[in-house]
Amino acid sequence: MRTTIVSLAFISGLSVAQPAHQHGLAVLNLVQDQQSLALELIIPADSALGFEHKPANSQQEQQVEQLETELQQASFLFDIGSQCVLSEFDIDMAGLSSHDDEHDEHDEHDEHDEHDEHDDSEHMDIHVHYQFNCEAISQLRFKGFEVFEGLQHLDVRAITDSGQHQTRLDPSNDTLDW
Ligand SMILES: [Zn+2]
Repeated sequence: MRTTIVSLAFISGLSVAQPAHQHGLAVLNLVQDQQSLALELIIPADSALGFEHKPANSQQEQQVEQLETELQQASFLFDIGSQCVLSEFDIDMAGLSSHDDEHDEHDEHDEHDEHDEHDDSEHMDIHVHYQFNCEAISQLRFKGFEVFEGLQHLDVRAITDSGQHQTRLDPSNDTLDW
């Protein structure tokens, strides 16, 4: 059931599908159509930052800010060669970043929830979206396993000029060819 929802959302154009949240597992939706390459990465905040709550101190705030800056460089996570030029970038830090505040005006009320029992709704995913124009592309290396110690797997769903692909990458197998 869940798989169906994800793939339908994916086909409808990289809308925000919520895959099963699993620590250590990130999801990459890749759509390549001739010179256009779109990458949408969904990574559990726990795997990227080591925590899944609003920054509790200045050190964690700094961690979030640093990650946000690093993610703006696609080369932080992907090795796609020099033939691609980034044309669009979006990031959703799930309310972790102070830059997200415009969407979170009512979050002050959340402070009363701190003693609530933990449930699935307390998990946080970071969404990053890159859009490239590429002269030619049929290979991509994911560098996230080197960057994020907490990450063990990347589930890839790809639609490319060579068809549809689904695969799982890990630290010993971090390159996609299509
Ligand atoms: Zn989580």
